[in-house]
Amino acid sequence: MNLRSAITWLCLAFVGLSGLAPGAARAAPTFPYRWPDYSVLPIFFVPRDWSTSSGDVQAEAAAIRSAMREIQGYYRVKLGSMRTFRLNDVEVVQADGFKEAYGITWNGRNIYADGVEVNSSFEGAVVAELHRRGYPTPPAQNESGYSVVIFVKGAGGWAGGRELGSGDGGWAILGDWAIDSLDGSVPEGAYWWSGRRLQTGAAAHELGHVFGLPHPDAYGGSFASSVMGNWWEFPTIGFNANDISLLFPAKNAFFPSVPGYLLQGMWRGNQGFSRTVPLNSNGVPNFGAASGWSGPVAISGLPGAGDMQGQGDFIFSNGRTMMQSMWRGDQGFTRTVSMNADGSPNWAAASAWSGPALLSGLPGSGSLQASEAVVIAFGRVLRQSFWRGNQGFTRTVPMNMDGTPNWAAASAWSGPTSSSVLPGSGDVQSLSETLYPNGQTMLQGIWRGNQGFTRTIPMNADGTPNFGAASAWSAPIALSGLPGSGSIQSQTDVVYRLFP
Ligand SMILES: [Zn+2]
Repeated sequence: MNLRSAITWLCLAFVGLSGLAPGAARAAPTFPYRWPDYSVLPIFFVPRDWSTSSGDVQAEAAAIRSAMREIQGYYRVKLGSMRTFRLNDVEVVQADGFKEAYGITWNGRNIYADGVEVNSSFEGAVVAELHRRGYPTPPAQNESGYSVVIFVKGAGGWAGGRELGSGDGGWAILGDWAIDSLDGSVPEGAYWWSGRRLQTGAAAHELGHVFGLPHPDAYGGSFASSVMGNWWEFPTIGFNANDISLLFPAKNAFFPSVPGYLLQGMWRGNQGFSRTVPLNSNGVPNFGAASGWSGPVAISGLPGAGDMQGQGDFIFSNGRTMMQSMWRGDQGFTRTVSMNADGSPNWAAASAWSGPALLSGLPGSGSLQASEAVVIAFGRVLRQSFWRGNQGFTRTVPMNMDGTPNWAAASAWSGPTSSSVLPGSGDVQSLSETLYPNGQTMLQGIWRGNQGFTRTIPMNADGTPNFGAASAWSAPIALSGLPGSGSIQSQTDVVYRLFP
């Protein structure tokens, strides 16, 4: 691991040059940019050697978009206070010049080793052109309000970040090692620095420099204590206390608190109900402050026939789409709902329901009893579960580079798990799995025999559930506390509005 020291990593951190004292009053942005004040702007800067309309560049842009959204969620989880930065969509910029115009030379050797030479004019030439073309990268370093992450195609292993000298903002620049790792074309293990996970960590690290964070050796800290050190341990590694003390309150303007809320849905007697639960500042739902239940919604508005059996709603890890699924009469249906920029659902933009899917495609036997879907592992994995015939099954679906589920790469279903391992008695009726937005805890809820039970499961540092450390199941919850009548049929939980 010591080969992966910061010395071998060409990370140029231009921090500590700020002309403003920490916490000094910051000038409000006064420049006519089209992005919200105090936000992060990813730019994909493509020299004329490549066309921005090519499929390759478009796929790379999608990979950058997905990685930046993951980094946004990572900051929220690892900073521990439900605060993260505002993120704009990636701007794909066709540069005016060929790569040589920016001081880049490809010498014919391997671009993933020593095949790219970048001279001292590079950084200045890129930010000067961007600024001239209307992007917030002032060469004079004298404007406030934007942290820009520039991916420069052709720039090899370049990686550096700069907090501005006399403005509250900055920029980072990353080259092909990052771009080609994020889009999957250089997998983890091919080089010591390669792969989507590592280079998402590298981008998170460079963005940390833009926010003024130094390498830990600048203050005698341990590289193993922070992504500002051992970024290749992303996403297990987070921020240390020194990082957090530098970000807050100095960078409060870049890190609005994100209120968010949990929406809980349930069906009983073929009527649907929902309620909202606010989140505490530590990312744990405040169930004591839940709203009343709204509803009922009639099942007649849904496709298919027969009783409601299961629901499982989840948001794609690109944050742009929610998938809703439901089962009734042993037939499954799905639809997608576009999300607003702040992470709330745009119900008016829901698709038609598609389906039906047939239960015969699933393992086990008996009628469908429960279904659920939850995104884990910092958005990299969808976990799907269902129960039929009092047997439970689960599988995982990796996310594509663009943050959509890669259904073709789903794992086989594992199981069956017998309902005898669950508390209570009677048939399984519903399952919910909720990853708290602090990323630390998953709440599981089940209903059987019209009694509800919950337990919590701590998450491993890599974002996967540690079932071995699950809590005991709660005492039974009575159905009489819920609105409506009839047996409970399904439940699902989704957390909305996590993005400022
Ligand atoms: Zn660095």
